[in-house]
Amino acid sequence: MYVVESVFKPIYFSKAFKGYFSIHSMDVIELAKALISINTVDSANGKKVVEVIDSALEGLPYKRELYTYEGVVNAFYYPAYECAELFAFNGHYDVVPADDWNKAFEPEEKDGFLYGRGSADMKGGLAAMTLAFAELLKEKRCASLFVVGDEEKGGAKGTGAALKDVLKKHKIRRALIGEPMQESKVFGDTVKVGRRGVFWLKLRIKGKGGHASQSLPYNPSRYIAHVLDMGANLTNKEGMAPTTVNITSLSMPLSAYNTVPSTLELTLDIRMNHGTSREAILHYLYKDGYEVDIEELFYAAPFFNPDKEYAEAVLTFLSSKGYKPKSSTAGGSSDARFFSSAGIGVVEFGPRSFNAHGRDERVSVDELRALVPLYKRIAEL
Ligand SMILES: [Zn+2]
Repeated sequence: MYVVESVFKPIYFSKAFKGYFSIHSMDVIELAKALISINTVDSANGKKVVEVIDSALEGLPYKRELYTYEGVVNAFYYPAYECAELFAFNGHYDVVPADDWNKAFEPEEKDGFLYGRGSADMKGGLAAMTLAFAELLKEKRCASLFVVGDEEKGGAKGTGAALKDVLKKHKIRRALIGEPMQESKVFGDTVKVGRRGVFWLKLRIKGKGGHASQSLPYNPSRYIAHVLDMGANLTNKEGMAPTTVNITSLSMPLSAYNTVPSTLELTLDIRMNHGTSREAILHYLYKDGYEVDIEELFYAAPFFNPDKEYAEAVLTFLSSKGYKPKSSTAGGSSDARFFSSAGIGVVEFGPRSFNAHGRDERVSVDELRALVPLYKRIAEL
């Protein structure tokens, strides 16, 4: 179930931000601060985010559609003038919880950095893309902007659903997601052209426990060794980092110090190379001698950007500006996979990430300022 709300003029004006930006003096840092100060943990307050984006685009020739899925608000902004096809910027506004960081939603600029939950991941990138989109609107270029929630929870109620519905009415040519570059050492050194897959699993294992003086070949603790050997038993293909397997929780009930329990529960976080199939993983985990109950918690397939020419053009453009970009497929999954599976060329490029998801998350002010014109030019490639 979703609701599409189409508007020709912005309808949500926040008193706090109305008139805060004018077309001629929009500043990416001020916009990022306005976004960070909205608590959007778990995609809360999506409508407030949309109000701020509306304010930043006030007076420009745009239309907006809202796509809401189970309470998650997503907005699609596009030109009010005719366009056969659109370049798409995509940014998520939802953030992870702030835990004990009590200043998480009070953005602060200090020593060249902007601090706050979501500053890096990814309200900074969202602010820069919004202003690049604004510049493109001024020049009557054919670009669009997705402002989405739910990314931190897998994106099914965000880009996953919204892209499908947007594509029923609009043609998207290529896409860019302004996610922070986790592995980036120097700004501009990384462009993501794909990602490893993600597979989260919960396993309940029943084997044969007993007296700890015995060898007990099918005792559940031996199953842990089987799991730790998994990485070496899976296939990897060139061009993407190899599959990694990590145990993220583990429990065996203690009955006595000299008794091996017969049950084990564990959760796994598997990052998959494109040569590793879901079936191969499941096949490996169902091991003879054990009763294995597997609950699949989350799965996102590995993907590559389907438009090689686009990725090349972005790398060439950044090189021409003096950056030293390399294409990368590192990191976890992202909303890019939805574009890729719709056959739309997609790259991810953004500021460097400083402690994203952690305390004192921050982003470089200079990098956000540099991104606005870079994003605008990439949309024109
Ligand atoms: Zn993100």
